[in-house]
Amino acid sequence: MLIVQKYGGTSVGSLERIQAVAQRVIASKKDGVKLVVVVSAMSGVTNDLIDKAQYFSKNPSPRELDLLLSSGERVTSALLSIALNEAGFKSIAFSGRLAGIYTDSVHTKARINKIDTTNINKALDEDNIVVVAGFQGIDEKGFATTLGRGGSDLSAVALAGALKADLCEIYTDVDGVYTTDPRIEPKARKLDVISYDEMLELASLGAKVLQNRSVELAKKLNVRLVTRSSFNTNEGTIISKEDDKMEQALVSGIALDKNQARLTLRNIEDKPGIAAEIFTALANENINVDMIIQNVGRDGATNLGFTVPENELELAKNIMRKLLGENALIETDSEVVKVSVVGVGMKSHSGVASKAFKSLADEGINIGMISTSEIKISMIVDEKYAELAVRALHKAYELDKK
Ligand code: ADP
Ligand code: ASP
Ligand code: MG
Repeated sequence: MLIVQKYGGTSVGSLERIQAVAQRVIASKKDGVKLVVVVSAMSGVTNDLIDKAQYFSKNPSPRELDLLLSSGERVTSALLSIALNEAGFKSIAFSGRLAGIYTDSVHTKARINKIDTTNINKALDEDNIVVVAGFQGIDEKGFATTLGRGGSDLSAVALAGALKADLCEIYTDVDGVYTTDPRIEPKARKLDVISYDEMLELASLGAKVLQNRSVELAKKLNVRLVTRSSFNTNEGTIISKEDDKMEQALVSGIALDKNQARLTLRNIEDKPGIAAEIFTALANENINVDMIIQNVGRDGATNLGFTVPENELELAKNIMRKLLGENALIETDSEVVKVSVVGVGMKSHSGVASKAFKSLADEGINIGMISTSEIKISMIVDEKYAELAVRALHKAYELDKK
């Protein structure tokens, strides 16, 4: 039996916590399983490294940023391996490169192209507990890359897939996946099981308990995935294929994404091709545009609004300046968040969206942008209403009740 375990930032947030994780890993090892353990940087470290880079530059070179950021996970992997050795268990720590994780060269959000498991398999055969620094790989030229924020989840799932592991356990600081962030709504309910699709939607819309790309990959590779707490032995949440036994909830959860910013382009020419030009320019720089609103044009001019990740706002604005000229009217607002209602059961019901709008209206919260799909409703609201909006929606759909 082979298990991939991943421990997140808070779980390895201090030397005492790393020691506790070592004990937990040893307990699994004593059960006779082969273990690959993926670790995050100690909590706060990645943000701290980003701040350090920004002391020198608002737009640090992504390649150097990746070299910097990938160091956080290496520290933890080495420390955990040292702790395991000291406790009498053979262990070896691998960086992303030594773990054979090859990615493209899109620094700070690289995609995994292939995994060469030679080193890991050899180490496992020699009875080692293999500890892998999460969140990172190397590109063709040998430069360190990182996999996007929260990317250690992806490292774990990708390794579980490549190694054909029997299980991938994501250890974090909450007991599993809840109907919404339990730190925002204490009445949130823990789910025993959730489908890949619903989890993917929640994660893509901001529920950071699992990184969205890790869920996508888990679904694709059919990786058995479970999230649970590293602070207790409670049963976690199983993420798996949809089956008949699963509760077909109308709404399964509420997600909040604070990493949102809005750009508004005023008075742009209302002619064919202009949207293509704008969004091609952004796509060429790998900026993920999310919601888009174009007003009905008037006198040959129109307004176009869209959202991007907050950390890409500056870059997006610069690209628009270059494309539209110095005199273009470009407004930005980073004090916005996206709240979303998610549920596969929504497909076959009407009136789900109006309930969301009404519950926010009742709290006096103005909705800046709306986008819907078959299984979600997303709304942009002022950042100061973020938590209130989440709680209002959670209540409106009675998610605290089973
Ligand atoms: P780790 O460092 O272990 O990767 P993260 O901070 O990335 O942990 O993710 C865990 C956090 O996700 C929790 O502390 C919780 O605040 C947040 N979270 C957001 N939405 C949810 C949800 N629906 N269920 C559980 N946790 C959630
Ligand atoms: N340390 C990285 C981050 O904070 C990756 C991770 O924790 O998964 O985003
Ligand atoms: Mg995480």
